[in-house]
Order: sequence, then structure tokens, then C-alpha cells
Amino acid sequence: MSDPHFKRIAIIGLGLIGGSLGHAIKRGKLAERVVGHAHSEATRKRALEIGFVDEVVPSAAEAAKDADLVVVCVPVGAVGAVAAEIEGSLKRGAIVTDAGSVKNAVVRDMGPHIPDGVHFIPGHPIAGTEQSGPDSGFAELFDGRWCILTPIPGADREAVAKLAAFWEACGSRVDYMEPKHHDLVLAIVSHLPHLIAYNIVGTADDLETVTQSEVIKYSASGFRDFTRLASSDPTMWRDICLNNKDAILEMLGRFSEDLSALQRMIRWGDGDGLFQLFTRTRSVRRMIIEAGQDTAAPNFGRNPTHISDKKS
Ligand code: NAP
Repeated sequence: MSDPHFKRIAIIGLGLIGGSLGHAIKRGKLAERVVGHAHSEATRKRALEIGFVDEVVPSAAEAAKDADLVVVCVPVGAVGAVAAEIEGSLKRGAIVTDAGSVKNAVVRDMGPHIPDGVHFIPGHPIAGTEQSGPDSGFAELFDGRWCILTPIPGADREAVAKLAAFWEACGSRVDYMEPKHHDLVLAIVSHLPHLIAYNIVGTADDLETVTQSEVIKYSASGFRDFTRLASSDPTMWRDICLNNKDAILEMLGRFSEDLSALQRMIRWGDGDGLFQLFTRTRSVRRMIIEAGQDTAAPNFGRNPTHISDKKS
């Protein structure tokens, strides 16, 4: 088993993921020093106040200097610029990873900036909430959740094992995938559901002139759960759509075909077909709960301290 500890860790991007990582590192005493950087001074100041980093610096390059592990936790559209900025200050033997929700584009945009002798091992913790910013982070976010690493061919085995041990010490279970396969899997389990939510809430919003008060008043039923997903960070989701275009379009195509079939069942009064479909989908939910990826309770995966602010 590799040692999960690092002397100096740099976290670039101090929002939900960067913040949660900082908390998890502190909880597990996984670093001697954690240095943070984010775009705005307000975020840097807040991260320091909360205390999930020991120090904040005004540039990504400064954060990466002398770091043994650099974790880039910014929206996918910004990873290339961050990699270009830190390129000159990475030390030999350091591990550079990220938390981006797509992986092929991260390899494409960060890869060319990683110098020889530095280990680049992209990653994606499959853990999140609809919240963002430094106040949304919490140490338990990764507990029991998968973290997918997508090492590039020829990656140093020891470095990969050390990063895996680090994520495990943060509470995750670690799995490995090819970047392209990762993007296809995530397109169906995460990206498509968010797009469906954005679309449904958009459609309801368009109806609002007629039924505005009803949409809000009766949202305790199915619609409410969609609004939770559809309140996710617009920058993050714009970047996911732009950077996982092929896989998302493939899944949207399949979804549209299946939706047409469902429409036909309703039009022709095919009760058996509807019942069979709904029975099959119910069993998928059961399997997810049995796999420990959700509980039967509502609001799973949310920061417990935030649940009370959110109307259930
Ligand atoms: P977030 O809460 O919005 O935080 C993003 C952070 O990145 C902010 O601190 C922001 O700084 C900083 N940032 C943006 N552009 C930057 C730049 N060019 N240089 C330095 N800092 C920059 O986002 P998040 O939810 O933590 O997501 C971070 C990454 O994790 C994304 O790639 C996302 O795809 C991935 N991810 C998200 C989830 C999820 O559920 N949210 C789950 C798994 C993975 P300011 O605050 O100053 O703007």
C-alpha cells in the first residue's frame, strides 16, 4: 500500500470540490501544508477564513511551486489555461491531477503543458452537489464515493498508486478507465440527467405566464427534484457540454428515440408496455441503493449543515 501523505499540496480552484478536498486532507492529516489558489481574492480570503487551506496565493504558478501534489479543481474550460500557467513552476517528481467532470478534453488541454519528469494523472471524483463556492465544501463529500483515475499510457505505476492511496485516504473508492470511456459513461449517468433537468425546468419556466404560481406552489412533486439538478453551476455545465459534445449527443439521440417510444405507448394506451418499463426502472433504483450509491432517504449527498436551509 502506498503512502497517501504529501509534504505540500496545492489546490487550484477553491469551490465545492477544492474546498471539500481541503477539508478531507485536513481530516486525514494528509499534508504538512496545503496551499490554495482561486481566481478571485474574495474566494481566496474565504477559503483561508474557513481554514481548509493553510495559505492562499495570488497565482496558480505560485501555488504549484514546490508542491508534491497539484490538484486542479477549476471548471473544465479553464484547465488548459491553469496548466499553461503552472508549467514553469512544477517540480520534478510532482503529481498533477484534476477533478474535471470530463477527461478526454482535460488530457487534450492539460497534457501538452506537463513537463517531462512530472506525473500527470487525470481524475474525477464522482461526488458532488448542486452547490458551488468555498462555503459549500465538506470533508465527507468523497466518503464511499468512486473516484475514477484515467492515467495516460506509460504513466508511472508508483505515482498512480500514490494518488489512488491519497483518494482512498480522502474516503473514496478508486477505479480506472480510459478517458474516452469515462466520458461515455458519465454522459449517461450524469450529463444527460442534468440536461434533462435543465430542459424540463426551462420548459416549465416558459409556461410560467400561464401557471407561474402553480409551478412554484405544487413543486413538492417530481418537478422539485429536477430544479435541484437544474440549479447546478452554469459555468461548470456549459464547459461539460462544450467538452463532451460527442458522447452527450450520442446519449441525447438514444434518449430522444426512447422518448418517442414512450410517447407512442401513451398515445396507443399500451398499459402493459408502460408498466413493464416502470417496473424495470424501479429495479435500477433498488440496485443503486444496494450498491451504497444512495439511500432511500431524500437529499442524499448534500452537506448535512445545508439541508436545513433547503426546503424539503
Ligand atoms: P466551483 O464550486 O464553482 O469552484 C470552482 C473554483 O475554480 C472557484 O474557486 C473559482 O474561483 C476557481 N476558478 C475558476 N477558473 C479559474 C482559473 N482560471 N484560475 C483559478 N481558479 C479558477 O466548482 P466545483 O463544483 O468545485 O467544480 C470544480 C471542478 O470539479 C470542475 O471541473 C467540475 O467539472 C468538477 N466536478 C464537479 C462536481 C460537482 O458536483 N460540482 C463533481 C465532480 C467534479 P472563483 O471562486 O474565484 O471564481
